Amino acid sequence: MPSYTEENYLKAIYKLAEAEPGTEVSTNRIAEVLQTRAASVTDMLRRLGEKGLLHYQRYRGVSLTHEGRRLALLTIRKHRLWEVFLVEKLGFNWDEVHDVAEEMEHLQSPLLITRLDEFLGFPQIDPHGDPIPTEDGAMRQPQNRLLADLNPHDCGTLVAVRNTSPSFLQYLDKAGLGLGTRIEVLDKAVFDNSLEIKIDNQRKTLISAEVSRNLFVA
Ligand SMILES: [Zn+2]
Repeated sequence: MPSYTEENYLKAIYKLAEAEPGTEVSTNRIAEVLQTRAASVTDMLRRLGEKGLLHYQRYRGVSLTHEGRRLALLTIRKHRLWEVFLVEKLGFNWDEVHDVAEEMEHLQSPLLITRLDEFLGFPQIDPHGDPIPTEDGAMRQPQNRLLADLNPHDCGTLVAVRNTSPSFLQYLDKAGLGLGTRIEVLDKAVFDNSLEIKIDNQRKTLISAEVSRNLFVA
């Protein structure tokens, strides 16, 4: 059974590899994401390599083995299911769940997770619109578009957020933007790519290019 720290490493490596497909993940990037020293990362990578969870070559970088990837996806699955539970059953807001789920994702009871999944009605996405990996470790890859790539007169429904930091989610709450919100692009400023949008066919508002690069629509 992987330890708390091992699960965090596998998850971080999986996410870094996803962000830059086709490249090996560097020790420095892992140290940055996990906010730890490169020397401790090196030790841990060697240990995970010995357990057959990743391929590690000094100065080259890291890639997960099949088993390493499976464990990373299982941790992400647990994290996202707990987030759904916290929002839907305990009334947490979507900006409050990440840190709690970071703790809960390490509970090691397969039966608990199976029952949780069932209790929640087999959800496909977490409260931020991210796909929940299946029990056998398959990750759905939704074909969503970034709001930033839409042109005037295009419409879409907000289905996921790229940035899940509390401050961004609080900004969206204030702006009245949540999953399921209907968005129509009215105008795009040539100057800075900011967008004028219409929300749910009612209100007009301006959003920055930075905000539009962090929202997925379908
Ligand atoms: Zn989260």
